Amino acid sequence: MAEGQLKDGIAAGRLAGPQYAENFSDLHPAYDRHEALVEADRCYFCYDAPCMQACPTSIDIPLFIRQISTGNPLGAAKTIFDQNILGGMCARVCPTETLCEEVCVREVAEGKPVQIGRLQRYATDEAMARNKQFYQRAAPTGRKIAVVGAGPAGLACAHRLAVNGHEVTILEARPKAGGLNEYGIAAYKATDDFAGAEVDYVTAIGGITIENDKALGRDFSLAELAASYDAVFLGMGLGGVNALRAEGEDANGVENAVDFIAELRQASDLSTLEIGRRVVVIGGGMTAIDAAIQSKLLGAEEVTIAYRRGKDNMNASEFEQDLATVNGVVIRHWMQPKRVVAEDGRTVAIELEHTRLDGERLVGTGEIVRLPADQVFKAIGQSFDASPLNGSGNSIAMEAGRIKVDAEGKTSMAKVWAGGDCVVDAREDLTVAAVAAGRDAAESIHRALTSNGRA
Ligand SMILES: Cc1cc2nc3c(=O)[nH]c(=O)nc-3n(C[C@H](O)[C@H](O)[C@H](O)COP(=O)(O)OP(=O)(O)OC[C@H]3O[C@@H](n4cnc5c(N)ncnc54)[C@H](O)[C@@H]3O)c2cc1C
Ligand code: SF4
Repeated sequence: MAEGQLKDGIAAGRLAGPQYAENFSDLHPAYDRHEALVEADRCYFCYDAPCMQACPTSIDIPLFIRQISTGNPLGAAKTIFDQNILGGMCARVCPTETLCEEVCVREVAEGKPVQIGRLQRYATDEAMARNKQFYQRAAPTGRKIAVVGAGPAGLACAHRLAVNGHEVTILEARPKAGGLNEYGIAAYKATDDFAGAEVDYVTAIGGITIENDKALGRDFSLAELAASYDAVFLGMGLGGVNALRAEGEDANGVENAVDFIAELRQASDLSTLEIGRRVVVIGGGMTAIDAAIQSKLLGAEEVTIAYRRGKDNMNASEFEQDLATVNGVVIRHWMQPKRVVAEDGRTVAIELEHTRLDGERLVGTGEIVRLPADQVFKAIGQSFDASPLNGSGNSIAMEAGRIKVDAEGKTSMAKVWAGGDCVVDAREDLTVAAVAAGRDAAESIHRALTSNGRA
């Protein structure tokens, strides 16, 4: 245990200097050529490849693995990028254990799937390291499209539109592009500024201008965009955070997990980041897991995740849950927050109530547990903030608090498409799903612009 670790309250520099770099190193180090060839050799190149069907972007997985095994990693990268231009990030962050690798026949037969994600990373890293660009833009169409949000959905949409010869302007509220790839994904999944490098790689095709610090609803309205551009794509993600609904949640030391993670991702020196000695994270999804693990890696002594339902109900995959426990995080199920206890305005504990199911309904049992805590992270889900739509909410139909779209990604407002987390979708909120939605909306926009002349 590092010397600083015993400091009470919230403090920076809990670890000895070099330990930060060690703790936040790459979760799955890259394969070298030999390792990639050995792993690729395990693939049966299944005719009806279930892995491919499980991939939200439908990458031809057996084909790219065969290309790796024949010594053609650049060909493999092209196969991946044809379907998913953010294949490099997806190789790092996809919960493959619940997607392609879950259904791999070698998982089903032997409990050991082909490591599809790591092979995808090997191929895409190779192409990006050599700055190999595979696409040329079609002849200019003269059409201009505005994309709101430079996250995975916006970037994938912009790239496919640029390939089809359109001019794209991405308007992004934050100082950097990348969306949650830049501000949300756990630091140990996207090391060495991979998110920034990927934005450069994607936009190198040309025809894409990114304007940072430009927010819809603040700097321009949707009506203005629709009037000045031939089409608009909304890829705004989820800006709101759900409230804890626990007494005292305004106390010092209670924070949104996504804000904590964004600060961590942007920190140039992790030793300056303040972290509690005892941290409690409320939630059961990937954000909760990431906040908890990264708290531990920053030197918090005790980190507990409290989730109101059982293990099987957690949105975080089993792999993510195991990763948390391996890192020393304690996960407690069937507990909901009741009260943050503060002294002199500073959080000192949290009271949690045991829960149980009463038929289908989750109810509190009245039994309260008090956990000492100097920092509490709220990770109970994000919500779509419709306020930037500036009154267009009436003309853009919403469903379940998010933008409603048809099968092609069209909203109810003429000339406006949407995709990614801001859209109501049966699929989970995942990077790969946002990429698929952006790409497919771009194809729909392209069809609309080229068949009718205007969207
Ligand atoms: C902490 C955390 C960890 C995650 N980890 C994983 C993971 O490991 N694997 C995985 O697959 N998924 C993960 N996800 C989910 C994944 O990051 C999202 O599903 C994905 O980023 C959605 O992409 P998007 O483009 O729809 O939205 P976002 O990535 O949120 O991008 C939206 C962009 O729009 C911008 N924007 C918002 N409002 C405006 C406005 N008014 N004007 C202009 N720009 C605006 C935002 O600044 C942002 O850049 C994680 C999510 C979180 C919160
Ligand atoms: S299911 Fe597994 S073995 Fe079959 S093609 Fe996909 S990766 Fe290869």
